Amino acid sequence: MAQTVVKIDKLVKRYKELLAVDHLSLEIFEGEVFGLLGPNGSGKTTTINCLLSLLSYDKGEIQIFGRDMKPTAYDIKKDIGVVMQNVAVVDQLTVYENIDYFCGLYIKDKAERKKAVDEAIAFTGLEDFVKFKPKKLSGGLLRRLNIACGIAHKPKLIIFDEPTVAVDPQSRNKILEGIIDLNKAGATVIYTSHYMEEVEQICTRLAVMDKGRVIASGTIDELKSNVKCSETVKVEVRALDDETYEEVGQLDHVFEKAYDNGELTVKYTGGKHNVVRLLNTLQNKGLHIGRVSSEQPTLNTVFLELTGKELRDKD
Ligand code: ADP
Ligand code: MG
Repeated sequence: MAQTVVKIDKLVKRYKELLAVDHLSLEIFEGEVFGLLGPNGSGKTTTINCLLSLLSYDKGEIQIFGRDMKPTAYDIKKDIGVVMQNVAVVDQLTVYENIDYFCGLYIKDKAERKKAVDEAIAFTGLEDFVKFKPKKLSGGLLRRLNIACGIAHKPKLIIFDEPTVAVDPQSRNKILEGIIDLNKAGATVIYTSHYMEEVEQICTRLAVMDKGRVIASGTIDELKSNVKCSETVKVEVRALDDETYEEVGQLDHVFEKAYDNGELTVKYTGGKHNVVRLLNTLQNKGLHIGRVSSEQPTLNTVFLELTGKELRDKD
């Protein structure tokens, strides 16, 4: 069994009347890329700030590396790297100086530090920009600088809080690949996001959050295997008559149907040959069929079934 790296037990954090984190419990193991997925305002950043002892909280217990986390737990903090949601770099320093500054908070030996800074630069692909000041960098490069500053001291636990918001696709892929590489090199990662695709791409396990609570957790497969809707089939079909529409509803495994704007949407719970059966039914009626698609459940399906809301993938 892998070691527990982070243990949060019944964390409660209020901002005056607002309950931002509501009895949240989590356990994260060594070697995981653990996702915290939830819409804006669901309490991800607040949870991270409590975890780091940057914010006091009302109730609960937090352990990191098996020890109690406190504002003065410097021996724990030196093994943690943080990439905050809001980019935090020094405008007056160059890219190189910024990374050197943050790395210098942890590594005093000059030669050792230079090696670490150079590695962080190579890792984030910032070689061509070392002499630039942050103001001259594009959004994506600035994010990469933010990451380089957070990871240069080779922490065992790295926390990324929405590192790809407002980032171009190329930088986004670079960031995601980089996180996987850091994990392969031995770091345990916590990754918060409201983009379900990213979480599906890189996370080994995740907790889905809503209104300060964990509403589901497990591996992506575990979460998806618990949803009612196992397949959503969409068919473009003109002039669908009421009788055929009712017949579609009687097909095996169908639990929901809709017909809107010439598109038939059918939701299934289980079943193997749903598309074939549906198309046969429509064709037997002599209906003209256009585009057909079949979707497997996503983390949005999980969120939708648990909350009745869409987990918006756009900003
Ligand atoms: P997320 O990171 O998931 O978007 P946050 O942790 O930032 O969510 O916010 C959770 C809730 O707490 C939101 O309703 C937000 O408006 C509120 N909140 C966050 N920070 C503060 C603060 N400093 N003071 C008051 N309310 C806050
Ligand atoms: Mg946040």
